[in-house]
Amino acid sequence: MNSARYSRQTILPEMGTEGQMRLAAARLLVVGAGGLGCPALQYLAAAGVGTIGIIDHDRVDISNLQRQILFATADAGKPKAQTARARLQDLNPDITLHAFDTELNDRNAQEIFSAYDIVLDCTDNFPAKFLINDMAVKLGKPVVYGAIQGFEGQVAIFDAAHGPCYRCLHPQPPRGLVLNCAEAGVIGALAGMIGAMQAMEAIKLIVGHESFSPLKGKLFLMDVKTMDTQTIIIPKNHDCAICSRPQAEIVPQYASPVCFSAEVRDIEIAALGALQECLMIDVREQEEWDQGHIPDALHLALSILHHDPEVFSPYRHRTCVLYCQRGARSRKAAEILLRAGFSDLYSLKGGYDAWSSAKA
Ligand SMILES: [Zn+2]
Repeated sequence: MNSARYSRQTILPEMGTEGQMRLAAARLLVVGAGGLGCPALQYLAAAGVGTIGIIDHDRVDISNLQRQILFATADAGKPKAQTARARLQDLNPDITLHAFDTELNDRNAQEIFSAYDIVLDCTDNFPAKFLINDMAVKLGKPVVYGAIQGFEGQVAIFDAAHGPCYRCLHPQPPRGLVLNCAEAGVIGALAGMIGAMQAMEAIKLIVGHESFSPLKGKLFLMDVKTMDTQTIIIPKNHDCAICSRPQAEIVPQYASPVCFSAEVRDIEIAALGALQECLMIDVREQEEWDQGHIPDALHLALSILHHDPEVFSPYRHRTCVLYCQRGARSRKAAEILLRAGFSDLYSLKGGYDAWSSAKA
């Protein structure tokens, strides 16, 4: 073991060489290399967690860089799991890193989870959180859970062998629209705080010093607007559909949230003429609209859609073409509207930029 590398933590009596050896022997799976996963991974790798798995099927997008601090501008378009792995290996060549460039689902979760002792839930959507919970309960693995929404963050440890599971807290995915980061917005620093707390909780679990009190069965809540914090005890639900059952009977299921985006249809500028009576909807923000927009378009900003999807409902039965500046936000808006029951929707490929250059 490289003693100089870890000297600032092994000097702590609660950690010592023994704690460091426990970290080196630990096998930890981080699901999601995004806003929470990046800071968590960085601290866990730096601390010398011996084996770390990283699972993420996404690619780096420029809009991720505001919070996903393992990635650089030149990484845009690269797979997150592999890119994170390379960055972390540079940070600490002494540890073993596995990258899974795939979506965690009900077919691969059991095999992947089996190789690790602890799972960090750094995902941003409910289907993934439920799948992680159900598989972890089935296999008896503790989950260090993190979540952020707006200015609020949460951390908890679910270990069904000794307490509640995530479904004791949330029996079913919430009804209606639930937005993830890409849709709802977040300040990177909050993701960093919650991700770092998940890393800290994982380190406490692994090292296991008697003075440590990890958040097992407790939910830590933080509102960074006011810095109000709260820690609540999560009661175990003895009728929980998952953790009250025998482990062998648990059948984790997964409905990919990506299936919604698969239905979003892009449309080229040149193909617009073939649509009969389509309604152009500009989903950009007010300043962008003020600087120029497609004539006769309707302006309904994505930020308004987030707060009040009902403003779009008068157009539910029209053929709608959504556009933004370059075509990314309009796809997001289209995904939300498809989930809200819209069917005849397109996202303008290349957005207003493409429309302006076609006109020029
Ligand atoms: Zn439960």
